[in-house]
Amino acid sequence: MDNKYCAEAKLVLTEYLTQQKLRKTDERYAILEQICLFPSHFDICMLHESLDKMNYHVSKATLYNTLEILLAADLIVKHQFTAKSIQYELKALAETHSHLICSICGTVREIRDMSLKKDIKNLKISRFTPMFHTLYIYGICSKCKYRIQKNNNKNNTKQ
Ligand SMILES: [Zn+2]
Ligand SMILES: [Zn+2]
Repeated sequence: MDNKYCAEAKLVLTEYLTQQKLRKTDERYAILEQICLFPSHFDICMLHESLDKMNYHVSKATLYNTLEILLAADLIVKHQFTAKSIQYELKALAETHSHLICSICGTVREIRDMSLKKDIKNLKISRFTPMFHTLYIYGICSKCKYRIQKNNNKNNTKQ
């Protein structure tokens, strides 16, 4: 994510905080800046760790609070790929790809498919104005498939 986008995101945040009469704390901007550096999804632990590495120590409560603000400001999206994992992603990034999710190990891969994007854009939906979309495709990743096949082969030779 280039700095140009981050500057834009900061402007959106400033606008939102002003509108909502919320304080423009350094912490909130530092967290947003860090988020702009992630090339992909992140969870709260990753965010916490990367801020720590930059010697920026914020509590998890502050992180959750800031993420809620960024969600409300429409800057990030919340993904729940599996029951256990909640991840976040810059909205501008999330719009560029679809997500392939392995139902067995929970690994998430991203694919960029322009024709799919075009098809969704061209969908004619009555009484509804699409604003944003993100697509989850569930399946089995190649690693899990390989493991299952190996196990099956083992069981077959035993019999
Ligand atoms: Zn993504
Ligand atoms: Zn898998």
